[in-house]
Amino acid sequence: MKIINIKTGIEKEIPTFNCNICDCKFTEQEGGITNGVFGMLPVSFCPTCLSGMFSMVEYFKGEEMTKKEILERIQNVLNQDVDTESGDLDLLRHDLENDIIGSSDDE
Ligand SMILES: [Zn+2]
Repeated sequence: MKIINIKTGIEKEIPTFNCNICDCKFTEQEGGITNGVFGMLPVSFCPTCLSGMFSMVEYFKGEEMTKKEILERIQNVLNQDVDTESGDLDLLRHDLENDIIGSSDDE
């Protein structure tokens, strides 16, 4: 992309980046991510796709609530003295508890 200074008439080349998701061209000034990396993959995301990605992350983070809800239901069942002979439900409760504790430690 070229930008011309009206006062001086000097042309300036501004680097543009291709968004890896929607393939649109955008400049660093517009925001988004330029020259980012996903592991070893170089990535660029335009402002629109970047904000979309944040919404997606928030959506997936919402699963944590679901795990807590599942745990609550399992606890309700266990409170009624219901479980398999080998205590599978109790094991599942234990795993879920660790999972929920582990994921909140990351924050
Ligand atoms: Zn995009």
